Amino acid sequence: MAEESRNAFDAIVVGAGFAGMYALHKLRGQGLRVAVLEAGTGVGGTWFWNRYPGARVDIESRDYGYSFDPELEREWRWSERYSAQPELLRYLNHVADRYDLRRDIRFETRVTAARFDERGARWNLTTERGESFSARFVVMATGCLSEPKEIVFPGADDFSGEVYRTFDYPEEGVDFTGKRVAVIGTGSSGIQTITAIAPECEHLTVFQRTPNYSVPANNRPLGTGEQREWDAERDAYRARAKAEPLAFWNDPPERSAFEVTPEERLQEFERRWEFGGFRVGGPFTDTGVDLAANKVLADYAADKIRSIVRDPAIADRLTPKTYPFGTKRLCVDTGYYEVYNRDNVTLVDLRATPIERITATGIETTEREYQVDAIVYALGFDAMTGTLAKLDIRGRGGLTLREKWADGPDTHLGLMIAGFPNLFTVTGPGSPSVLTNMVMSIEQHVEWIAEAIAWLDAHGRTTIEATPEAEAEWVAHVAEVAHQTLYPLADSWYMGANVEGKPRVFLPYVGGFPAYVEACNDAAAEGYRAFRVA
Ligand code: FAD
Ligand code: NAP
Repeated sequence: MAEESRNAFDAIVVGAGFAGMYALHKLRGQGLRVAVLEAGTGVGGTWFWNRYPGARVDIESRDYGYSFDPELEREWRWSERYSAQPELLRYLNHVADRYDLRRDIRFETRVTAARFDERGARWNLTTERGESFSARFVVMATGCLSEPKEIVFPGADDFSGEVYRTFDYPEEGVDFTGKRVAVIGTGSSGIQTITAIAPECEHLTVFQRTPNYSVPANNRPLGTGEQREWDAERDAYRARAKAEPLAFWNDPPERSAFEVTPEERLQEFERRWEFGGFRVGGPFTDTGVDLAANKVLADYAADKIRSIVRDPAIADRLTPKTYPFGTKRLCVDTGYYEVYNRDNVTLVDLRATPIERITATGIETTEREYQVDAIVYALGFDAMTGTLAKLDIRGRGGLTLREKWADGPDTHLGLMIAGFPNLFTVTGPGSPSVLTNMVMSIEQHVEWIAEAIAWLDAHGRTTIEATPEAEAEWVAHVAEVAHQTLYPLADSWYMGANVEGKPRVFLPYVGGFPAYVEACNDAAAEGYRAFRVA
């Protein structure tokens, strides 16, 4: 068979993480000829790449797994309340085997360009190795947090020691025994790495630009009894979770912080802190929307930091002061603040003494040089848009996605983009994605996309496309809802503020999962009335 017809598919899915794997399973199940193109050498996406020490979920294992097949849920047993990366990767490999996914996935195949041929109504894709593929439909399952930020420090290439990034940390791990190690970055990846490696290094120096709020996971092993109980109530549990704004049960608040006495407030904070995880972030109905309510929660968190960290000056340095509580993603930790009571850990405040350059032997700030044997960069991601904007994607009239998104990512529902027919994005900007249990959001998107394709085929239609009007309306709604909250006050990756030159736009949809699902269903009603179908 000629390469042209061998590489012609009904649908091409880019990426083999949670989203791409389910998209393959779903679309193949509808009788489509599907190929998945994946840059990595294995399945798993986030959990294939991010192998740094201490990497684990911040949403409980019970929630953070596929729900589409109750049998799969019943047969898989998580060992901990918060799964660690190796277990998640085993799970995703199990899923790939169970549904025989690998035969349609091409690994080490990085897509570099995708062009829409208007006459043939097909997408032509090119890979890094120069291969060509074509398909009627393209599903971009490329991830929200899959394009790591560049290492921008002057002199970075001169460093003669070991260099690691949390994003593509070596599979075999690293032995830091007897070594002086630096970690730059204190988001979730940095915090988990720091906590895991501190006991092992001879000395660990943490370079912190902005402190992050971190709450205890209270992680623990899961018993089989507990898992059997889950099995029994599985359907009701999943249904309840999907009715929640975050698409997982987070013990939603019912009262305002000011409807209760200070003692009751403290009791509620403590109850949630004891439970652990994201529940700490939503104790009252107004902590996410009202600065005064938020401040009482922030003060409580600051007290907690002071109660754990013995040195008051270090505790103060670890306490966020420049943004409201929860407006940067909370970190869920396993003994993070305790790390700073160790004699072998130093915390450097980069606001006071910024990094000037990396030298051959260490890191030089405006104050002094720190000599180290290894540097771990935990600098985060060009989130939600970076992976797609890096590709040369051209829709109608040769319009590039990069041009279209120059002032911010316009999408309809984070699912489709006007001018880019038959190209779907899973958990794209403008969808709830990272503000929910991602696996639930991924499933909902994949199912919506699969239904849209089935509808087109059943009705003899060729293309579906967002209209500019519906897209503009959705973009305005996403911004409006975001600005009713405190989120836009932080220089976060949610706002695009962590990448120099990126437009300051709130990227995910904060209106909640159920409202969003309703909007998707509504847009699809009456023959996809909010889209142009041809
Ligand atoms: P990904 O898992 O990112 O997969 C995308 C895949 O696309 C990757 O394998 C990538 O190699 C591939 N790809 C990208 N571009 C190309 C290209 N051009 N050509 C070919 N292949 C390409 N979310 C939660 O809800 N809870 C959590 O606890 C949680 N923890 C996280 C921890 C870390 C360290 C990170 C980075 C993210 C975390 N997230 C979490 C978000 C997480 O990304 C999602 O939950 C989910 O795994 C995303 O799945 P995905 O398939 O959409 O994307
Ligand atoms: P991040 O939250 O963006 O953190 C990056 C860190 O690097 C920040 O502390 C940032 O400081 C710092 N940094 C970036 N550029 C810098 C520079 N030039 N100089 C000095 N410091 C710099 O990224 P992340 O930790 O990889 O996490 C990203 C997201 O992935 C999380 O928010 C979460 O959604 C997900 N994640 C989840 C888990 C989990 O617990 N399951 C674990 C890891 C990641 P500033 O804040 O000052 O920019």
